[in-house]
Amino acid sequence: MSFQVFGLPVSRGVAIGRAVLVSSSRVDVDHYFVAETQVESEIARLRDSRDDVAAELSGLQRDLPADAPSELSALLDVHLMLLHDEVLISATKQWINERHYNAEWALSAQLEVLARQFDEMEDDYLRERKADVEQVVERMLRAMSRGASSGCAEGDGSIRAAAAGAEPLVLVANDIAPADMLHFKRSVFTGFVTDVGGKTSHTAIVARSLDIPAVVGAREGSRVIRQDDLVVIDGDAGLVIVNPSDIVLEEYRFRQRQSELEREKLTRLRHTPAVTMDGERIELLANIELPTDAKAAVAAGAAGVGLFRTEFLFMNRAGELPTEDEQFEAYRAVVVAMNGAPVTIRTVDIGADKPLERMSAGELRHEHGLNPALGLRAVRWSLSEPAMFRQQLRAILRASAFGKVRLLIPMLTHVSEATQVLEALERARQQLIDAGKPFSAVDIGAMVEVPAAALVLPSLLRMFDFVSIGTNDLIQYTLALDRGDESVAHLYDPWHPAILKLVEGVISQARAAGKGVSVCGEMAGDPAFTEVLIAMGLRSFSMHPSQIASIKQNVLRTDSRRLAALVCATFKADDIWGGCEALRNALAHPATSSP
Ligand code: PEP
Ligand code: MG
Repeated sequence: MSFQVFGLPVSRGVAIGRAVLVSSSRVDVDHYFVAETQVESEIARLRDSRDDVAAELSGLQRDLPADAPSELSALLDVHLMLLHDEVLISATKQWINERHYNAEWALSAQLEVLARQFDEMEDDYLRERKADVEQVVERMLRAMSRGASSGCAEGDGSIRAAAAGAEPLVLVANDIAPADMLHFKRSVFTGFVTDVGGKTSHTAIVARSLDIPAVVGAREGSRVIRQDDLVVIDGDAGLVIVNPSDIVLEEYRFRQRQSELEREKLTRLRHTPAVTMDGERIELLANIELPTDAKAAVAAGAAGVGLFRTEFLFMNRAGELPTEDEQFEAYRAVVVAMNGAPVTIRTVDIGADKPLERMSAGELRHEHGLNPALGLRAVRWSLSEPAMFRQQLRAILRASAFGKVRLLIPMLTHVSEATQVLEALERARQQLIDAGKPFSAVDIGAMVEVPAAALVLPSLLRMFDFVSIGTNDLIQYTLALDRGDESVAHLYDPWHPAILKLVEGVISQARAAGKGVSVCGEMAGDPAFTEVLIAMGLRSFSMHPSQIASIKQNVLRTDSRRLAALVCATFKADDIWGGCEALRNALAHPATSSP
């Protein structure tokens, strides 16, 4: 049966593929294809994991103390029975045999099928057995990760080759954590759908950086879409079409080809300078999450890196933080890859929807707090862990010996925080001098992400060399809504006059003070805002590498003077709502409002 699921469009384009349902807790399970010749050994891994777990459970049962409650022994019996149940094992083998899924993927795919069957059971007792199956599968997955690998590690070329001939796959999950999106970078999926999330949640941001079609906030998506359904993800409209008719499918295949052609056309702009019709040079920089993303930035013709979100280096590390040398190597790799172009490295922005997860007791922890977005996040966390912060500052400074590095501090709200940051930087510099480690001069920038920073901007401008406007958080904190919460996504409005007024105010004050100013939030990569930001005086934009070409195309079509007077009048007028409305109208109708 064909039906549609509506969500939020977060990453453009069309993906068509078979649905792979993955529960949120298993998004980090390896997903890759094995070659025909490896099917047998993959099945052997599955069998071995079953035998290991059977031995483990039998051992537990044998060692039960005499006075242990009888339920415990009964529970172990149930787990042993499930382990040997052919519904689990033979169906899992089928996923490996027929689809060439690796054993972990096959097992979790079968678990999803079983979990749904349990959910649909009328009988409470039977429904609750789902937890037992999950525990057994969890044990098998752990056993597999302890055991020898299949020799076909994730990201391996042979996997890609095997995947090339296979049907495309799209991932459907309740949620994907930003940390798990890093797995996605190396996975076989061509698109994804999640039930939760907002347009500027970090999961959505990473999807855009991967340039893969995605829909978030699809609410019931993972409940109504079934394993193996044929799914069309329309990333432009925020629409998911499940089991489309032939005619709809054909239409979307056509659109897919069209958008590929469009992208190819845009890549030809790579070497074209970003200059407006009236000769204003616009700097188009790249936002990156990992050192390997620098390649995409160079390929897209970025003039440098405007935002390196270093927190992704701190994730998926089972509780260990990267050492100073590891960080230094990562930062240096980007600086070297950018070959003389500036690299803006932001200090770690942990917290809100980017927690440091899987920490074990006694290690440096990041607690969630009552309201993570308003809690110990970004520079607040850095200042609460001074040794960790100085270590990062030293690593960044050391990378400056290899190219042009700029340092960026996230989420400043208080001038006293800025003072502490500058003191920490001074200490880090002194420590490097004492250790005889070289570094060069770096410009220091403040992110303007909370209204407080925009309102005390002159004080910050006196302390910093440049500012970068983080519109994702600026919208969240100004409009008092969680950027990751799909239930308030309709209120997340970059066109709200309060946002435009704050952005315009920051740009004009920074320019008047002779300081650099850029926008590195999602607004910079949204073609709808290119002209208005240029009219406000912005000359530096930072965005995902995949967005650079289309923004450049807009720059080339823009006359920076066309809306300058209107912008100026809008933010001075009493009726700012009406003024912003007029501005949007003028943007939508270029011919009627030309000077
Ligand atoms: C922002 O808030 O706009 C920003 C660029 O930072 P992040 O999206 O990483 O919070
Ligand atoms: Mg931010």
